[in-house]
Amino acid sequence: MWNSPKVGILGGGQLGRMLVESCNRLNIQANVLDAENSPAKQISFHDGHVTGSFKEREAVRQLAKSCDVMTAEIEHVDTYALEEVASEVRVEPSWQAIRTIQNKFNQKEHLRKYGIPMADHRELVENTPEELAQVGEQLGYPMMLKSKTMAYDGRGNFRVNSKADIPEALETLKDRPLYAEKWAYFKMELAVMVIKTKDEVLSYPTVETVQEDSICKLVYAPARNVPEAINKEAQALARKAVSAFEGKGAFGVEMFLLEDNSLMLCELASRIHNSGHYTIEGCALSQFDSHIRAIMDLPIPAKSLEIRQPSVMLNIIGGATPDSHLKAAEHALSIPNASIHLYSKGAAKPGRKMGHITVTAATMHEAETMIQPLVDVVDEMRA
Ligand code: ATP
Ligand code: MG
Ligand code: MG
Repeated sequence: MWNSPKVGILGGGQLGRMLVESCNRLNIQANVLDAENSPAKQISFHDGHVTGSFKEREAVRQLAKSCDVMTAEIEHVDTYALEEVASEVRVEPSWQAIRTIQNKFNQKEHLRKYGIPMADHRELVENTPEELAQVGEQLGYPMMLKSKTMAYDGRGNFRVNSKADIPEALETLKDRPLYAEKWAYFKMELAVMVIKTKDEVLSYPTVETVQEDSICKLVYAPARNVPEAINKEAQALARKAVSAFEGKGAFGVEMFLLEDNSLMLCELASRIHNSGHYTIEGCALSQFDSHIRAIMDLPIPAKSLEIRQPSVMLNIIGGATPDSHLKAAEHALSIPNASIHLYSKGAAKPGRKMGHITVTAATMHEAETMIQPLVDVVDEMRA
């Protein structure tokens, strides 16, 4: 058996919490850096946690002292602190990878060198209406104005339908570093979880993601009605993109499937990812299990990343009332094959991810049929 090293995790939200669940089953101590009583800390009782923020230099230093390998559940961390501690503790994936990826524009400039297909894009320097109008002429409308940094769940994106939208778009985003992307006319969004180990780049099968208001709502694993050739091609593209970065662990790769069946990268994340939650029930090794194994150089049989049963994952997002997510979970209790994950984040806010439900079944049709009543309940709560 391995000599259990301690894993330090920057961030104790739901992704950290699910990483801790994987650590717990292997008797691995996970030291979490985040606020007191954050979701990940609630399920892990020991004195190795650090109170503070993954954006504070001193807190990252303190975490580094208490663990052998460090990782992050989020890309928006202080990578200068990680760079500093990398001489005393292993950081996985590398601080360089996280630094490049956390800035979506830099991420894309980097991936361009590796021939990864992406929507054409332009950097904004002045964030003025004149500059954006010029970019609009180059990229055409609609285009997506995006914050380079601190973007998640679509907070940082603004769809610019025409020149007339420019003032509102800039009103919303002008204080952030920006770039704009040509509109991608996709027929479907796909995602692949990639696991980078010390000597291999492995991938889970291709899944289909459905975004509502730019927030992931549903994941179908495997992607519905997608030929095996595209499933394989998407996995290959995802592995190629992740290979452009140094370090071990899970990476989430989001892609667009265009009308002509070609693929384009949307973005990638240097961490476990919402599109991979289905792996907890759908695969022998979850993305969280694989991440921990990858950063600790433990074996990951490729077969354990295959989908055992078709799965549908539904996010439970905060609704109009503080307890609407609980009502959704309560409803899920009566759905056959439904696994409920609540994140214990406290009060719900509209748009906040509060939990998720995964239904597995012998066929995708059966899984879809079983989860549909819950999708209806969630839609009703949001309406
Ligand atoms: P995440 O929560 O995945 O980190 P994010 O805030 O970083 O999201 P993106 O992944 O860039 O944002 O975009 C969110 C969604 O917006 C995409 O999944 C897609 O539905 C839509 N979108 C993004 N870029 C484009 C584009 N160029 N053309 C069309 N739709 C787009
Ligand atoms: Mg993102
Ligand atoms: Mg995204």
